[in-house]
Amino acid sequence: MAEGTTRTATVTPTAGGRGARRPALSPSRASDFKQCPLLYRFRAVDRLPEVPTKAQVRGTLVHSVLEKLFALPREERMPERAKDLLHPTWSELAEECPEWMDLFASGEGEDGADETGAAVGAWLETAGELVDAYFGLEDPRRLEPEACELHVETELSSGVLLRGYIDRIDVAPTGEIRVVDYKTGAAPRQIGEAKAMFQMKFYAVVLWRLRGVVPRQLKLMYLSDGQALAYTPDEPELVRFERTLEAIWQAILRAGKTGDFRPSPSKLCGWCSHQALCPSFGGTPPEYPGWPEPDPGEESALDRAD
Ligand code: SF4
Repeated sequence: MAEGTTRTATVTPTAGGRGARRPALSPSRASDFKQCPLLYRFRAVDRLPEVPTKAQVRGTLVHSVLEKLFALPREERMPERAKDLLHPTWSELAEECPEWMDLFASGEGEDGADETGAAVGAWLETAGELVDAYFGLEDPRRLEPEACELHVETELSSGVLLRGYIDRIDVAPTGEIRVVDYKTGAAPRQIGEAKAMFQMKFYAVVLWRLRGVVPRQLKLMYLSDGQALAYTPDEPELVRFERTLEAIWQAILRAGKTGDFRPSPSKLCGWCSHQALCPSFGGTPPEYPGWPEPDPGEESALDRAD
């Protein structure tokens, strides 16, 4: 599937433009609420800042490079060409988010060497390894995605608005759709697999409702360990999953009215940036600021690159 597909314009429906968007559910925030309602509150309602890890920023970089790779003529989509994109793409990202440079800041060494530059260089090499791993999984010269980093949004009949970004969509000449997601995180595949499949089913529901076609394949490409996982959803499954999303959104709205977002401790707390404010760790959350307007469901670039 998706060999020799054609690039077409994809209309991204929006609800009133970026300035006044309705609250919507995104896969990352839905996962947050499922994992821990208080984590959802900290991220989507309080919008507390989180310092990204180098691995998260590297994921954003690699996603961006792969998007640029598919904008090149097919014959140029080679590993060295892709790795040549790393440096300029990082420069662009660092200009947009200068605080990310703090992750590497160490100043000058005793001999006057630029230790920050060396740290960035070593980190870019690890990003290059992920790019190499991508080429070990498929040959991009044989693909012509319909879209990369596609913003999608749809409203279910219940009124729940779903919103997110899809890494890549391939559409075969026969119309079969493949949804592709690149995973760049350092965590072993098994740890994040359920969360990743939740995200893919979310996108499958959105595309099914937007286009009337159940995607033929959901493909996860794990670049850290060079493995891919493909899954074929069916319509009854997506109907059930849609109900799950509606139930999650209703639970979020109920908690949003009262501010009752409870902590739900788990082994995943080790990755939570907000333990100091969490009652399960002896902290006290800030006063509930009320349900935010206009959009508590937005995903960041870092969310999309996990
Ligand atoms: S530390 Fe754990 S329980 Fe507390 S907010 Fe974070 S994820 Fe939830």
